[in-house]
Amino acid sequence: MNRAWIELNAEALENNLRNYQNQLPTGMKVMAVVKANDYGHGAKAIAPQLERLGIDFFAVAALNEALELRECGIRSEILILGYTDPSYFGTLADYNLTQTVTGPESAAALEAYCRLSGRKVKVHVAVDTGMHRIGYLPEQMEEIAKLYASDALAVTGIYSHLCVADTEEEEHVEFSLKQIDTYRKVIDTLEAKGLKLGCRHLLASYPAVNYQEHPYDYARLGVLLMGVISSPKDYLKNDLHLQPVMQLKAHITAVREIGEGESVSYGRIFRAERPTKVASVAIGYADGLPRCLSTKLRAIVNGNYVPQIGRICMDQLMLDVTDIPEVRVGDVATFIGREGDCVIYAEELAEKAGTITNEFICRLGSRLEGRTFTR
Ligand SMILES: *Cc1c(COP(=O)(O)O)cnc(C)c1O
Repeated sequence: MNRAWIELNAEALENNLRNYQNQLPTGMKVMAVVKANDYGHGAKAIAPQLERLGIDFFAVAALNEALELRECGIRSEILILGYTDPSYFGTLADYNLTQTVTGPESAAALEAYCRLSGRKVKVHVAVDTGMHRIGYLPEQMEEIAKLYASDALAVTGIYSHLCVADTEEEEHVEFSLKQIDTYRKVIDTLEAKGLKLGCRHLLASYPAVNYQEHPYDYARLGVLLMGVISSPKDYLKNDLHLQPVMQLKAHITAVREIGEGESVSYGRIFRAERPTKVASVAIGYADGLPRCLSTKLRAIVNGNYVPQIGRICMDQLMLDVTDIPEVRVGDVATFIGREGDCVIYAEELAEKAGTITNEFICRLGSRLEGRTFTR
């Protein structure tokens, strides 16, 4: 019996992908960003499903994430957005992975490996258009051109990333347009030199909605493809009618009645003000429901909302089920998802935890079972 698990909805995933594709400019394809175990959803389940739906390019943050995709049979191109230690450059070639070069130093190390080994590693060049995280600066155009000319490695693409594309604020719109313009100038200058740049990509989930008049070859879609928004404050120009792909559930493992004045859980912060029926659930902060949400959470049990009471423990938490008639050991408590007329969104939990939905869902624990499609 599962204790706590994630259920995935294949229809929601397909809906989100198709709705996105329908509103992207023609010719613009989707690169699925499935880093951090696909934002907690389970890359091993989601990526093969996306590949069946026609996705031919995936992006991850790290080499081990890329290898996991190959292990579960992904044949598409895989771009590693982050750092790979030089001792693993051979693995990049072994598994036909594409590595981001973050600047001249990163390029030099990889080029040296390729020259020595005689193996060609595929790379995409990152361009820093203003986020100032990674990438060649626009002034380093000559260095990018040199890299394209190198016969040691294979430069198959060039990309950048926008950092304030999820708001409507004038200052941020101006900044995004400046980033877009900087990227365009880099692309135009390199193409004017006669270079074949390969795969050009700039827009992630939010910019692919808000700035789609600047399309290029791929949109790199992560969070919105999973049907969750980062934060309720975010701006999206069009409604994509996205549906959440993930539900988070756990089993009720014990039910007991306690008297008025009795307490529940560590620290005794919950005191019963009436005779109270307490249900214990097999999920805790080790599974990704942060302890700071103690007494702020709610769940759906048998079609009713119920409040969580007392401190959240590492592996368990308690619900007040006094007001619902039939609660038995083995019943299911839903923390993210829909049951009858009740629904709890991941966004609600993230907001209560003081963070964005991306962080909340990507921290859902490795101990959770499931992460497979149910229907
Ligand atoms: C994480 C990431 C993405 C995906 O971002 P979303 O907002 O989740 O769509 C795209 N590009 C880069 C470089 C990233 O790091």
